[in-house]
This record gives sequence, structure tokens and C-alpha cells, in this order.
Amino acid sequence: MTSHRVLFPEADEMLAIEDRLTRVLSQKKSGRSESSVSAREPLSQWRSELAKYQFEASEDLEHLMDWVMSSLDDGVVHMTHPGYMGLFNPAPTFPSECADRIASAYNPQICVWSHAPKAVEIEQHVLKHVAIRAGLPEGASGHFTSGGAEANNTAVLCALTANNPEFGDLGASAFLGQPVIYASKESHLAWLKIAHATGIGRKSVRLIDTDGGGRMSAAALSKAIEADIVAGNTPVMIAATAGTTNAGMVDPLEACAQLATEHRLWFHVDAAWGGALIACPKNRSVLGGIESADSITIDAHKWFATTMGAGMFLSSKPHVAADAFRVSASYMPDSNAENDFYLNSAQWSRRFLGLRLFLSLGAAGWDGYADHVSHARSLADQFTHKMLKHGWSKANASEMAVVCVVPPEGSEAVEAIVERVQSVGLSWVSKAIFEGNPVLRMCITNGRTSEREIDCLVNQLISCG
Ligand SMILES: *Cc1c(COP(=O)(O)O)cnc(C)c1O
Repeated sequence: MTSHRVLFPEADEMLAIEDRLTRVLSQKKSGRSESSVSAREPLSQWRSELAKYQFEASEDLEHLMDWVMSSLDDGVVHMTHPGYMGLFNPAPTFPSECADRIASAYNPQICVWSHAPKAVEIEQHVLKHVAIRAGLPEGASGHFTSGGAEANNTAVLCALTANNPEFGDLGASAFLGQPVIYASKESHLAWLKIAHATGIGRKSVRLIDTDGGGRMSAAALSKAIEADIVAGNTPVMIAATAGTTNAGMVDPLEACAQLATEHRLWFHVDAAWGGALIACPKNRSVLGGIESADSITIDAHKWFATTMGAGMFLSSKPHVAADAFRVSASYMPDSNAENDFYLNSAQWSRRFLGLRLFLSLGAAGWDGYADHVSHARSLADQFTHKMLKHGWSKANASEMAVVCVVPPEGSEAVEAIVERVQSVGLSWVSKAIFEGNPVLRMCITNGRTSEREIDCLVNQLISCG
């Protein structure tokens, strides 16, 4: 094959290459737990291999793919390794991997309903079910995003748009007083980038004190709002976190909702990771209050474990997003903001992301996800139990599958312990700061992790204690 033919091969050539790729990937996946979970830094030899690709001559596609896969084998941290107990990056569900293949093969453009009516309706269907399951009222809807940061960005734009009808035309100068938003100091700090990007500025983010246990203090929040009003600023939004990134803590959602109502603020709940608890009837109360949110962030690519990046922005007031993202373009087909994602979200061209969650939820049902969530929680409990027995203590009172532990007095520093675990490569955990103190953070993110990997980690840690 030469020139552009290699980009668009015949069906039988594609089939041969795809079949081989499927087999190679499948072997790699099943052998993953035998190799290191950690990434190695690129050596100069590998960098010179990379530099040889000058894109002047054409190369064999299969050789190229083999080179890339062998690079990734020791060149990325493996979330598909059952010893990965790190940040909220999942081993992806198999149905979501299938969804990616289907979405790639059809490659529908779903920014307008009329171009892909059935794909758009599949996505709207799954979004509506998630919104209702979260407790939002009938009529709630939303869209898929690149991730939680984009969904939170959308929430800020909605808050500003809902607060002041002039914001859309005039920007931040439409406000008489400086617009301000509230999140806890344990929140995801993308809020600062978002404030920068939306034009209200980083100083308009109030990082509210926590209560000593990693939750936003409702009293401190109330005081901060009052102080801003007195100072002539314009409070626009409370962003409560349901499942902090560090420690899985849930802000007092009901108290936050009440303050938002009292001061007529947009109430957003960032449940990027913790939102998966909506699958679990017996733990649903942990998220009590989320149903009064004006908008919610839930990442499909975190505890729902679809492939990266698939966030969700859900809202009980979809007309506000339609106002924030309104536009008219002569070359677009006839449109309406209810059905056309380019008129109610930040993205224009759009990948069929929702299929990942549609196939995963469809294949497992809510009960299957409830099992997935409970399995992770129970492994986290087992880990806690074993560490407590060996004199370690647990710093966070989270009911989610993330555990922050502190070694006994006189042990090595947390940082050194984490570094050693990562370099051995059997397990992957991280360090974090919780309420000002260094902690070792472990989080169950892989549906294939079992008691065996918990024991392996515990054994490594107690030998440091
Ligand atoms: C991960 C996370 C985010 C950011 O989401 P991305 O998908 O990484 O963009 C925001 N908030 C919380 C609470 C998170 O855990």
C-alpha cells in the first residue's frame, strides 16, 4: 500500500490488521498483572527511536502500532493492573471499550440531532436516567463533557448566566459587584482555572475552610457569603463537593442547598467521582441533598469506569445552559436548543461518548453498578481493618472507597513509603495532604482488584511501619 491508500484500506486488509490488534491487546491485558504497575521514565535510546519518525517516508502500520504498544507497556502507569489503587482512573468497563469501537466505526457527528437522531437520543436517554437516579426532577437533562473540569466550567457559566441576563453580552463587567463562587479548600482546584477562563478571575473563588474532617464548614460558608455581600461583591454560586478528590468526603449538601436558596445562588454539586453512589440504594443517603442541585457533575470515566474522558453535566434547569451556549450559524442544519448539543454545551463537533455508559449500564443494570461500587467499598474496608490492626490510623471518615492512612509514630515518612511502593511496582498508591497532614492515599478503582492485591499492599506497608 502506498500514499493515502494506507489511510483507507480495503475491507479484507482492515479485518486482518484489526483481528491481529484485538489478539495482541487481549494478550497484553491478560498479562498485565505480571508486569510493573508503574511507569518508567523514557531513556535517551527510546527518545532517539521516537526522533527517527520524521514522517517523510511511510512506515508499516503494524510495526508502528507494535512500537507504540511496547512503549506503553512500561511507559504509562497501568490503571488496568489490579494493583493500581491510585487516583480515580479506572480500568475501563469492557462494554465501554466496545462502545469506543462502535463509535469510531460509525463516527457519527452528534452535535445536531438531525445528523444522528438515534445516536443523540441514545445519549439523551442515558443522561435522563442518570439525572433521575440522582434525584433531579422530571425535565432535567444534560450533556457529556470531556470530563469533570469541563462540566464544572459549564456550571460556572450557567451560574453567571442565571444570575445576570447581561452576562452573556457584557461578560464579568455586567456585574455591579465582583461575582464570587464558593467551594471548600478540599475541593478540586480546577475551580481556579475555571474562574480564570470564564473571566471572573482566580480571586473570585472563595476556598472555604473545612470542619477538620475534610468537609466544607457550613458556618464558614455562611459567614463568607455575608462578608461578600457587605463588601459589595455578588455571590453567584455554591459548589459543594460530594466525594473530595483527596479523601472522598461529602460537603454538607443540605446546608449548602439551604444557603443557596436563601441567597438565591446557583447550587452545584461536584460528584465527579462520588456520584456513582447513586447506583447503591443502601448508601444513597451519603449523597442526601444532591437532588436539590441546579446542576451536578458526574464523571462516567471515574467510578462508572468508562474509558477516558467522559464527564456529565446534568441540570434541572436546562434552559440556562441553552442560554449560555446560544449561537446561530447559517451553515448548520435547522436546529433547536433542546435537542442540539452544539446549542446547549461548550463543544461543537462531538464524539458519541454516551454510548460508553449506555452499553455499560445496559449490560450491568443499576444492580451491576451497585455491586461494582460495593465491591470497591468492601475492599477499602478490608484494607482499613488490616492497617488498623498493624498500628496505622485512618485519617478520613469517608464512606467511599478511598482510604487515607497514617503510619505509626516513628515510621518512615509517608513520601518515602509511597516512593518505595511505586518503585517495586506491585501496587500503586499516592501521597496526599489531608487537613494539613501527609497521608498515604489508596483508592479502589479497578473492578478486578481483589483481596489478594489488598494483602500484597498491606504486607509492603507493614514492613515500613
Ligand atoms: C476528577 C475530579 C474533577 C475533574 O474531573 P476531570 O474528569 O479530571 O476533568 C473535578 N472534581 C472532582 C471532585 C474530581 O474528583
